[in-house]
Amino acid sequence: MPDLGVPELLDLDRRHVWHPYGPMPGRAEPLVVESASGVRLRLADGSGELVDGMSSWWSAIHGYNHPVLNEAARDQLGRMSHVMFGGLTHEPAVRLAKLLVDISPAGLEHVFLADSGSVSVEVAVKMCLQYWRSLGRPAKQRLLTWRGGYHGDTWQPMSVCDPEGGMHELWSGVLPRQVFADAPPAEYEESYAGHLRSMIERHAHELAAVIVEPVVQGAGGMRFHSPAYLRVLREACDAHDVLLVFDEIATGFGRTGALFAADHAAVTPDVMCVGKALTGGYLTMAATLCTPRVAEGISRGEVPVLAHGPTFMANPLAASVACASLGLLLGQDWLAEVKRIEAGLREGLAPAREIPGVRDVRVLGAIGVVQLDHEVDMKAATAAAVREGVWLRPFRDLVYTMPPYVTGDADVARIARAVCAAAREG
Ligand code: PMP
Repeated sequence: MPDLGVPELLDLDRRHVWHPYGPMPGRAEPLVVESASGVRLRLADGSGELVDGMSSWWSAIHGYNHPVLNEAARDQLGRMSHVMFGGLTHEPAVRLAKLLVDISPAGLEHVFLADSGSVSVEVAVKMCLQYWRSLGRPAKQRLLTWRGGYHGDTWQPMSVCDPEGGMHELWSGVLPRQVFADAPPAEYEESYAGHLRSMIERHAHELAAVIVEPVVQGAGGMRFHSPAYLRVLREACDAHDVLLVFDEIATGFGRTGALFAADHAAVTPDVMCVGKALTGGYLTMAATLCTPRVAEGISRGEVPVLAHGPTFMANPLAASVACASLGLLLGQDWLAEVKRIEAGLREGLAPAREIPGVRDVRVLGAIGVVQLDHEVDMKAATAAAVREGVWLRPFRDLVYTMPPYVTGDADVARIARAVCAAAREG
């Protein structure tokens, strides 16, 4: 097939391709990316390159077209790109599971390799519900979460997304009905800790698990909160026989300045989901880890198996690249890189405080957020960032960035300038 010209490609895209949260036929005019290397996206219209301030939604931590990850993919491609996982196993999956167990909070020992973040949350929920059924306590089938969260776009994850976020109204009466505590405040407040404790105590008889994004609530609002709340959750869950699930799909692999956000509080959840940066953004893969308590509980049930087995589970290509990506991450002083980006974002985003309409500026690890007091004009804000040579994807009242860890100081400064420009013009 001959290469398509940009106008033709955009026309076909508009008519046939469904983009995330997009209408059909498409109304937005996406930029066409021709290739990507390092932290730069090359545009097909000949207008040049953009520094990627989004890491392709938290995932491309090592940048694009990385020789080590390319080699891992090429090497595995020559052996086996995929094989079913039922009744068969392979080295990439086994190595990856062992690596994940080694670096995760102590006590998480069993790994289910899923094919997307949302699916890994589905698996986590299944694990928790099935655990209590297996133990003869079938009333414990609901989940508690706090408002302002985001856990994915499939059914169970949608049921624990922020109830104000649009999905609940659309699917009201159809989604599983879950229990919502208030959103966590940024700083530790004893009264909020008390609210969490009493919600868990009050609903314990019907709760299978508490599920939260630890330390950073991402797509639900880019809010940060004190890690001390994770200890409150752990203690309350233990006291009232409720499992604790951490969704580290966005926060995992160093993004917040700890390998996992749970590490900020030295808390081990019963179940943990990871994804996004797992393969350095190369291929779609996620994982659900659990403790022996959960796995053994499920195994004692009338149906002693976890009834989940997607076709592309433990894809060897993705698992090989994930091993290589984790090797790259752990083989360097990743914390120094994340701290370097944190310092650059703090300095570069400080002027945003003076922009009219800016309500808050916050930075944690390699995440920078400017929150406005109004809904951002996405088109104007994106265009302002592009004029600065940077790719950003503002939403709701937020202009934010989570750059690849390999972003150099000058590019971090440039991204920060673009965030300020987008906040000013959006
Ligand atoms: N949980 C969190 C915290 C996420 O940020 C996301 C993705 N934005 C998901 C779950 C869903 O992951 P995926 O998009 O890979 O299905």
